[in-house]
Amino acid sequence: MAFIILNLDSLSSQVLNEDNKVLNSTENSEFKKMKRTDSEWRRILSSSEYHILREKGTERAFTGEYDGHFEEGMYVCAGCGHKLFDSETKYRSGCGWPAFSKALPESVEETEDNSYGMRRIEITCSKCDGHLGHVFNDGPQPSGLRYCINSVSMDFKPEEDK
Ligand SMILES: [Zn+2]
Repeated sequence: MAFIILNLDSLSSQVLNEDNKVLNSTENSEFKKMKRTDSEWRRILSSSEYHILREKGTERAFTGEYDGHFEEGMYVCAGCGHKLFDSETKYRSGCGWPAFSKALPESVEETEDNSYGMRRIEITCSKCDGHLGHVFNDGPQPSGLRYCINSVSMDFKPEEDK
């Protein structure tokens, strides 16, 4: 990132970049971002994947492929294959979407989302910037977090591929 400013008022321990992404100041992105044009994404992704990953859509509650899916393995980004969540952190939240208590290190980025009159934290893939879902602070201890993620945004890799 070329341009980083410190916001000393409300986010003394965090850094904001020009996309208003909230980054941990100790975080260090060592991998390269995947950049594709809009027409490339349209070609690569299915229409539902494109809608959710690139247009920040949301699948209908209780309809997602992985909502009630509890096999052991790894959930990766449907857009770029980046590893996002370990099945060990998946739990039954009852919210209607796959829920995880923890994301893999450096797997996702958080951005404030004030759309629809709500103040939420959007979760995107740290590699391709695809929209995944949101994170809420009503999850199980010890993290207390609930990563509420669209099934369409993810692919599942069974244990042997981990
Ligand atoms: Zn991705």
